[in-house]
Amino acid sequence: MDSPRQQGLRRKLVQQLERKGIKDPAVLAALRRVPRHLFVEPTFIELAYEDRALPIACGQTISQPYTVAYQTELLQVCPGHKVLEIGTGSGYQCAILCELGAEVYSVELERILYERARERLTRLGYRPFLRWGDGRLGWPTYAPFDRILVTAGAPEIPPALLDQLAEGGRLVAPVGTGSDQTMLVITREGNQFKQEEKGLFRFVPLRSPDQREAE
Ligand code: SAH
Repeated sequence: MDSPRQQGLRRKLVQQLERKGIKDPAVLAALRRVPRHLFVEPTFIELAYEDRALPIACGQTISQPYTVAYQTELLQVCPGHKVLEIGTGSGYQCAILCELGAEVYSVELERILYERARERLTRLGYRPFLRWGDGRLGWPTYAPFDRILVTAGAPEIPPALLDQLAEGGRLVAPVGTGSDQTMLVITREGNQFKQEEKGLFRFVPLRSPDQREAE
Protein backbone atom coordinates (compact mmCIF):
# COMPACT_ATOMS: atom_id res chain seq x y z
CA MET A 1 0.00 0.00 0.00
CA ASP A 2 2.89 2.36 0.75
CA SER A 3 5.85 0.90 -1.13
CA PRO A 4 9.51 1.91 -0.68
CA ARG A 5 9.27 3.53 -4.13
CA GLN A 6 6.32 5.65 -3.07
CA GLN A 7 8.06 6.57 0.18
CA GLY A 8 11.10 7.63 -1.82
CA LEU A 9 9.03 9.77 -4.20
CA ARG A 10 7.36 11.36 -1.19
CA ARG A 11 10.70 12.23 0.44
CA LYS A 12 11.79 13.85 -2.84
CA LEU A 13 8.57 15.86 -3.04
CA VAL A 14 9.09 17.10 0.52
CA GLN A 15 12.66 18.15 -0.36
CA GLN A 16 11.23 20.13 -3.28
CA LEU A 17 8.74 21.82 -0.95
CA GLU A 18 11.61 22.73 1.38
CA ARG A 19 13.46 24.30 -1.55
CA LYS A 20 10.30 26.26 -2.35
CA GLY A 21 10.43 27.76 1.16
CA ILE A 22 8.44 25.51 3.51
CA LYS A 23 10.38 25.48 6.80
CA ASP A 24 8.22 24.26 9.68
CA PRO A 25 9.71 20.87 10.70
CA ALA A 26 6.37 19.58 12.03
CA VAL A 27 4.65 20.38 8.72
CA LEU A 28 7.46 18.75 6.72
CA ALA A 29 7.29 15.63 8.93
CA ALA A 30 3.51 15.40 8.46
CA LEU A 31 3.93 15.67 4.68
CA ARG A 32 6.51 12.87 4.83
CA ARG A 33 4.07 10.62 6.67
CA VAL A 34 0.78 10.98 4.75
CA PRO A 35 0.62 8.66 1.70
CA ARG A 36 -0.76 11.15 -0.86
CA HIS A 37 -1.02 8.41 -3.52
CA LEU A 38 -3.88 6.90 -1.51
CA PHE A 39 -5.85 10.17 -1.73
CA VAL A 40 -5.75 10.62 -5.53
CA GLU A 41 -7.86 8.84 -8.14
CA PRO A 42 -6.25 5.54 -9.27
CA THR A 43 -5.81 7.01 -12.79
CA PHE A 44 -3.47 9.66 -11.40
CA ILE A 45 -1.51 7.52 -8.96
CA GLU A 46 1.72 8.00 -10.93
CA LEU A 47 1.36 11.78 -10.55
CA ALA A 48 0.66 11.70 -6.80
CA TYR A 49 4.16 12.89 -5.87
CA GLU A 50 4.42 15.68 -8.42
CA ASP A 51 3.81 19.13 -7.01
CA ARG A 52 0.49 19.67 -8.73
CA ALA A 53 -3.24 19.72 -8.04
CA LEU A 54 -5.14 16.70 -9.44
CA PRO A 55 -8.81 16.11 -10.30
CA ILE A 56 -10.96 14.18 -7.82
CA ALA A 57 -14.69 13.32 -8.13
CA CYS A 58 -17.48 15.93 -8.43
CA GLY A 59 -15.33 18.29 -10.54
CA GLN A 60 -13.12 19.15 -7.54
CA THR A 61 -9.37 18.93 -6.95
CA ILE A 62 -6.89 17.73 -4.36
CA SER A 63 -4.80 20.86 -3.79
CA GLN A 64 -1.20 21.12 -4.96
CA PRO A 65 1.19 19.83 -2.25
CA TYR A 66 2.90 23.23 -2.06
CA THR A 67 -0.45 24.91 -1.36
CA VAL A 68 -1.28 22.36 1.35
CA ALA A 69 2.16 22.86 2.91
CA TYR A 70 1.92 26.65 2.70
CA GLN A 71 -1.60 26.88 4.16
CA THR A 72 -0.68 24.43 6.94
CA GLU A 73 2.45 26.40 7.80
CA LEU A 74 0.45 29.65 7.94
CA LEU A 75 -2.11 28.01 10.23
CA GLN A 76 0.51 27.31 12.99
CA VAL A 77 -1.21 24.22 14.38
CA CYS A 78 -0.18 22.91 17.80
CA PRO A 79 -1.05 19.46 19.20
CA GLY A 80 -4.47 19.54 20.86
CA HIS A 81 -5.77 22.49 18.84
CA LYS A 82 -9.36 22.27 17.65
CA VAL A 83 -9.11 22.82 13.91
CA LEU A 84 -12.03 23.34 11.52
CA GLU A 85 -11.41 22.65 7.84
CA ILE A 86 -13.88 23.74 5.16
CA GLY A 87 -13.73 21.52 2.06
CA THR A 88 -12.70 17.97 3.03
CA GLY A 89 -12.32 16.98 -0.64
CA SER A 90 -10.01 13.95 -0.81
CA GLY A 91 -9.25 14.14 2.93
CA TYR A 92 -5.52 14.73 2.32
CA GLN A 93 -5.29 18.11 4.06
CA CYS A 94 -7.41 16.68 6.87
CA ALA A 95 -4.89 13.82 7.34
CA ILE A 96 -2.02 16.35 7.50
CA LEU A 97 -3.86 18.23 10.26
CA CYS A 98 -4.46 14.96 12.15
CA GLU A 99 -0.73 14.17 11.87
CA LEU A 100 0.01 17.49 13.59
CA GLY A 101 -1.92 16.26 16.62
CA ALA A 102 -4.95 18.48 16.11
CA GLU A 103 -8.54 17.54 16.87
CA VAL A 104 -9.88 17.98 13.36
CA TYR A 105 -13.42 18.90 12.26
CA SER A 106 -13.93 18.96 8.50
CA VAL A 107 -17.02 19.84 6.45
CA GLU A 108 -17.66 18.88 2.80
CA LEU A 109 -20.49 19.99 0.53
CA GLU A 110 -20.44 17.00 -1.85
CA ARG A 111 -21.91 13.84 -0.38
CA ILE A 112 -19.79 11.51 -2.52
CA LEU A 113 -16.56 13.21 -1.47
CA TYR A 114 -17.64 13.22 2.18
CA GLU A 115 -18.34 9.47 2.08
CA ARG A 116 -15.14 8.58 0.27
CA ALA A 117 -13.00 10.73 2.55
CA ARG A 118 -14.62 9.20 5.62
CA GLU A 119 -13.96 5.68 4.37
CA ARG A 120 -10.36 6.47 3.35
CA LEU A 121 -9.40 8.36 6.52
CA THR A 122 -10.88 5.62 8.73
CA ARG A 123 -9.02 2.93 6.79
CA LEU A 124 -5.75 4.84 7.27
CA GLY A 125 -6.36 5.17 11.01
CA TYR A 126 -7.21 8.89 11.19
CA ARG A 127 -10.03 9.97 13.48
CA PRO A 128 -11.36 13.38 12.39
CA PHE A 129 -14.95 14.53 12.88
CA LEU A 130 -16.48 14.76 9.41
CA ARG A 131 -19.72 16.32 8.29
CA TRP A 132 -21.64 16.54 5.03
CA GLY A 133 -23.02 20.07 4.70
CA ASP A 134 -22.41 23.71 3.87
CA GLY A 135 -19.10 24.71 5.42
CA ARG A 136 -19.90 28.41 5.03
CA LEU A 137 -21.94 27.94 8.19
CA GLY A 138 -19.01 26.44 10.07
CA TRP A 139 -19.84 23.80 12.69
CA PRO A 140 -21.55 25.70 15.53
CA THR A 141 -21.94 22.64 17.80
CA TYR A 142 -18.18 22.38 18.29
CA ALA A 143 -17.25 26.07 18.13
CA PRO A 144 -15.08 27.90 19.01
CA PHE A 145 -12.08 26.65 17.02
CA ASP A 146 -8.43 27.54 17.64
CA ARG A 147 -7.72 27.31 13.94
CA ILE A 148 -9.94 27.49 10.83
CA LEU A 149 -8.71 26.54 7.35
CA VAL A 150 -10.74 27.19 4.21
CA THR A 151 -9.63 25.16 1.18
CA ALA A 152 -11.97 26.68 -1.45
CA GLY A 153 -11.97 30.25 -2.79
CA ALA A 154 -14.69 32.78 -1.95
CA PRO A 155 -15.31 36.50 -2.51
CA GLU A 156 -15.33 37.00 1.26
CA ILE A 157 -14.79 35.05 4.46
CA PRO A 158 -18.17 33.67 5.59
CA PRO A 159 -19.14 35.65 8.73
CA ALA A 160 -20.09 32.45 10.62
CA LEU A 161 -16.47 31.33 10.41
CA LEU A 162 -15.20 34.55 11.99
CA ASP A 163 -17.81 34.12 14.76
CA GLN A 164 -16.58 30.59 15.42
CA LEU A 165 -12.91 31.55 15.69
CA ALA A 166 -11.65 31.40 19.29
CA GLU A 167 -10.02 34.44 20.91
CA GLY A 168 -6.35 34.32 19.99
CA GLY A 169 -7.36 32.05 17.09
CA ARG A 170 -6.10 32.06 13.53
CA LEU A 171 -7.98 31.58 10.25
CA VAL A 172 -6.42 30.96 6.82
CA ALA A 173 -8.55 31.40 3.68
CA PRO A 174 -8.10 32.17 -0.03
CA VAL A 175 -10.27 35.20 -0.81
CA GLY A 176 -11.05 36.88 -4.13
CA THR A 177 -13.60 37.33 -6.89
CA GLY A 178 -11.49 36.48 -9.95
CA SER A 179 -9.78 33.24 -10.92
CA ASP A 180 -7.00 33.94 -8.37
CA GLN A 181 -7.46 34.45 -4.67
CA THR A 182 -5.32 36.21 -2.08
CA MET A 183 -4.34 34.00 0.84
CA LEU A 184 -5.50 35.78 3.97
CA VAL A 185 -4.41 35.11 7.53
CA ILE A 186 -6.87 36.47 10.09
CA THR A 187 -6.00 36.57 13.77
CA ARG A 188 -8.55 37.33 16.45
CA GLU A 189 -7.78 39.35 19.54
CA GLY A 190 -10.93 39.89 21.58
CA ASN A 191 -13.38 41.09 18.99
CA GLN A 192 -10.67 42.64 16.82
CA PHE A 193 -9.67 40.85 13.63
CA LYS A 194 -6.25 41.55 12.13
CA GLN A 195 -5.62 40.63 8.49
CA GLU A 196 -2.44 39.80 6.57
CA GLU A 197 -2.09 38.98 2.85
CA LYS A 198 0.12 36.06 1.86
CA GLY A 199 0.24 35.80 -1.94
CA LEU A 200 -1.96 34.64 -4.81
CA PHE A 201 -3.35 31.13 -5.27
CA ARG A 202 -5.99 29.42 -7.39
CA PHE A 203 -8.69 27.33 -5.70
CA VAL A 204 -11.97 25.75 -6.75
CA PRO A 205 -14.89 27.93 -5.59
CA LEU A 206 -16.59 27.74 -2.22
CA ARG A 207 -20.19 27.01 -3.29
CA SER A 208 -23.69 27.08 -1.85
CA PRO A 209 -25.77 23.86 -1.68
CA ASP A 210 -27.73 24.85 -4.83
CA GLN A 211 -24.40 24.84 -6.70
CA ARG A 212 -23.70 21.20 -5.81
CA GLU A 213 -22.46 18.97 -8.60
CA ALA A 214 -25.19 16.80 -10.14
CA GLU A 215 -24.73 13.23 -8.87
N1 SAH B 1 -8.84 20.06 1.29
C1 SAH B 1 -9.11 19.30 0.09
C2 SAH B 1 -9.17 20.22 -1.12
C3 SAH B 1 -10.48 20.09 -1.76
S1 SAH B 1 -10.92 21.29 -2.97
C4 SAH B 1 -8.13 18.16 -0.10
O1 SAH B 1 -7.16 18.07 0.66
O2 SAH B 1 -8.34 17.33 -0.99
C5 SAH B 1 -12.21 22.16 -2.11
C6 SAH B 1 -13.36 21.34 -1.60
O3 SAH B 1 -14.31 22.24 -1.03
C7 SAH B 1 -14.12 20.55 -2.65
O4 SAH B 1 -14.16 19.21 -2.27
C8 SAH B 1 -15.52 21.17 -2.64
O5 SAH B 1 -16.57 20.22 -2.89
C9 SAH B 1 -15.59 21.72 -1.24
N2 SAH B 1 -16.57 22.78 -1.04
C10 SAH B 1 -16.95 23.76 -1.90
N3 SAH B 1 -17.89 24.55 -1.34
C11 SAH B 1 -18.10 24.06 -0.08
C12 SAH B 1 -18.95 24.43 1.00
N4 SAH B 1 -19.79 25.47 0.93
N5 SAH B 1 -18.90 23.70 2.14
C13 SAH B 1 -18.05 22.64 2.26
N6 SAH B 1 -17.23 22.24 1.27
C14 SAH B 1 -17.26 22.94 0.12
